[in-house]
Order: sequence, then structure tokens, then C-alpha cells
Amino acid sequence: MSQIDPLPPLRQVIADHGLTARKSLGQNFLLDLNLTAKIARQAGTLDTHDILEIGPGPGGLTRGLLAEGARHVLAIEKDTRCLPALEEIAAAYPGRLTILNADALDVDPLRHLTPPIRIAANLPYNVGTELLIRWLTPPQWPPVWDSLTLMFQREVADRIVAQPGTKAYGRLALLAQWRTEARIVMSLPPEAFTPPPKVSSAVVHLTALAQPRFEADAKTLEAVVAKAFNQRRKMLRAALKGLAPDIEDRLIAAGIKPTQRAETVTLEQFCALARLMT
Ligand code: SAM
Repeated sequence: MSQIDPLPPLRQVIADHGLTARKSLGQNFLLDLNLTAKIARQAGTLDTHDILEIGPGPGGLTRGLLAEGARHVLAIEKDTRCLPALEEIAAAYPGRLTILNADALDVDPLRHLTPPIRIAANLPYNVGTELLIRWLTPPQWPPVWDSLTLMFQREVADRIVAQPGTKAYGRLALLAQWRTEARIVMSLPPEAFTPPPKVSSAVVHLTALAQPRFEADAKTLEAVVAKAFNQRRKMLRAALKGLAPDIEDRLIAAGIKPTQRAETVTLEQFCALARLMT
């Protein structure tokens, strides 16, 4: 184990600043800096990019990103108790770390960064999924970010990379895979965190594609997919009935059997159907 920076070990930082983990903020901290540096490396080249980090906490991943050479990190943390510890990191890396005390759901920090941009985060489950959906559905594509490197509960990571015909396949897989290349790049057991969560975690790396894989209007595709999976056990002719009176004909024209269920329909077929709905 090598030391990645001259700052104190995270266990000591947490003790010095009284950062007892709060469940309400989904605080499960990574304390192994070699591990956080490894997660940072999954993000790709860092010295060419500005990095947005959400939820730095005591700064484990932040230190990993900076030690691995990130050009600049903007870190957004809701918990004011973490700010002094983060200021110490900023002092050790002059001019390379900006800290913003805010709720990541309330701010639009991407406009403060200079492209190219990568996003990296180890976030609580509900905030992470909400932010992922926002990042995947920007007003314009390609988005301002090049890649997302995000820690999720294993079950959520599986839903992002899921293939048709599986239980995990649904809206999240389709949204992610339509315009990104999404891969699980690391798996972490509960013991990697302090305190350990109940379930395993995984890091998902998503690279923005220059163009969607298949042509479709984003809003229409989102609406069709949301409706199809809202009643995922129903046949599509029933689940999508409200969308158009001739939905059966449109399904057939898109190469989908009206008796199919949403979870067996490929991304390409959903895009074909979305094109027929506009
Ligand atoms: N990045 C640190 C690590 O890997 O050890 C901490 C990860 S901990 C799972 C999640 C962090 O996100 C906590 O520091 C928590 O305070 C912060 N957080 C939770 N909700 C947030 C929100 N809405 N906006 C910004 N930060 C948030």
C-alpha cells in the first residue's frame, strides 16, 4: 500500500472533524485511498479534464482524483461538517479544488466548469439515480460531459447495463444505453465502506456517444418507454393503448408483436416505435 498524498489518513480526518456518518445523508465513506485512486482511474484521463464530484464527504474520492492528476475538481457537498476537511485538501492542491456547499439537486454546477468535463461520484442511492437521469436527459446531445463514473448499489448498476429479456431491463437501461456506452468497471463489497451498507456496490462508467445509437426524438422515446414499463407485465398493445388508437399497427410497423411485453423489446425497436409516434 502506497501513500497517495501527504494528507492525514481518512480515519484520522473523520475523527479530527467529528464526521460521524449520518444515515439521512446516505453517508458510507470509503477510507482506503488506494481504492479511491483506483476508482478515479476508471474515469479515464483526468489531467485534460475538469471533474465534477458530487458528495465528496471527508474527501476520499476527491483525494484520489487529485492524486491521479485531475486538472480541476469542483466538489459539491451538502453536509457543512465536511467543509473544513475539504478545505485542507484544497490547500494541499492549490488552485485545483473548488468546494461548493449545496444540495446537488438544487444547483447546475456544470456551467461553472470548462469542457472537457467528467463527472465522478459516490452518492446515496436515491440522489444518484435522480442525478443520473438528469445527466442522461439534457436539453441537447452531445452533453457537456464526456463521461460519468458513478458508484451505485449493485442492483442499480445491473439495471443500467441490463439487456432485454432480463428482470433488470427497463427504463434506466434504455435511457443509458441509447446515448452512452455503459459498463460496470468495479465491484465493491459492503466492507469497503465505513459504516458498511447492507448491500454490495458497483462503479458504472458511462461514456457519452457523439450520436444516439438509433434515431428518435428524446421526449417521445422517454414517454413511450415510461409507459411501456409502467405496466411491464402487460402486453404492449394494452400497456400503450392510450398513446394512439392504432397502436397495434404502429407496433407491427416497428417490428414489435402487439402481444410482446416491454422487457423483451430491444432499444432499436423502441426507437423505431418512437419514430412512428411523431
Ligand atoms: N465521496 C465520499 C466517499 O466516497 O467516501 C462520500 C460518499 S457518501 C456515500 C455520500 C456523500 O454525499 C456524503 O458526503 C453526503 O453528505 C453527500 N450528499 C448526500 N446527499 C447529497 C446531496 N443532495 N447533494 C450533495 N451531497 C450530498
